[in-house]
Amino acid sequence: MVASIPRLFVDAPLAAGAEIAATEAQAHYLVHVLRRAADSPLLLFNGQDGEFHARLLHAARGKARIGVEAQTRLQIAEPDLWLVFALLKRDATDLVVQKATELGAAALLPVITRHTNAERTNPARLTAIATEAAEQCERLSVPVLHAPQKLPELLAAWPAGRRIFAAVERRAAPAAPARHAGPAALLIGPEGGFAPAELDALHAHPLVTQMSLGPRILRAETAAIAGLALLLAAGAGTPDPS
Ligand code: SAM
Repeated sequence: MVASIPRLFVDAPLAAGAEIAATEAQAHYLVHVLRRAADSPLLLFNGQDGEFHARLLHAARGKARIGVEAQTRLQIAEPDLWLVFALLKRDATDLVVQKATELGAAALLPVITRHTNAERTNPARLTAIATEAAEQCERLSVPVLHAPQKLPELLAAWPAGRRIFAAVERRAAPAAPARHAGPAALLIGPEGGFAPAELDALHAHPLVTQMSLGPRILRAETAAIAGLALLLAAGAGTPDPS
């Protein structure tokens, strides 16, 4: 069986001929988990310079150096679609971060709502989950992970020109749009749903469009995955030709 080529995100400029140091975690993963020896091929990306072939040059005592070779892919932008999601319990948040990364979300914005029962994230853990998902799914960037903020503050500072599709259950909201170009975001509520005052605030916000995901009440993580897939299929986040 041919071993697959490990694909790693690196926080360093990439260009043919460059030599970079792997992090301790990457060195451990390459040498002790994958048992790769010097000269093994790798693929590297950094979110800016595309993807490059590379080679493990030297690995010993928790350190590894990597030689960058030829470029394999040019950098392309992800769709400019953000996921705003009410914080969930740890496993569900992990799942949302992993799947949103695989689907191509450009940014992940945890939000605190009236019925959210968590207020904090572990940024290092969520960044590691997003990075691993980006490495595995062959995307060329890792989504930007924001610190949690309260829903009213998020809505008050919302950037002009970015439509928010707010997923609301048990309402006569329209289905996901068939076509929507331009910057966009999907907003998913907590397990307890949005409070009535929050629904009123969403209704009054000029950039919010309420959206149904069908007649069933989905778990928040299912709603995040389904909503992202529907919006991406509609072209959300692609440049607006108008
Ligand atoms: N506790 C709420 C209830 O029983 O009515 C359900 C909340 S649901 C588990 C969590 C979030 O997923 C909601 O706030 C909403 O954003 C989204 N969601 C779930 N099902 C949905 C649907 N059918 N249409 C739109 N959004 C949905």
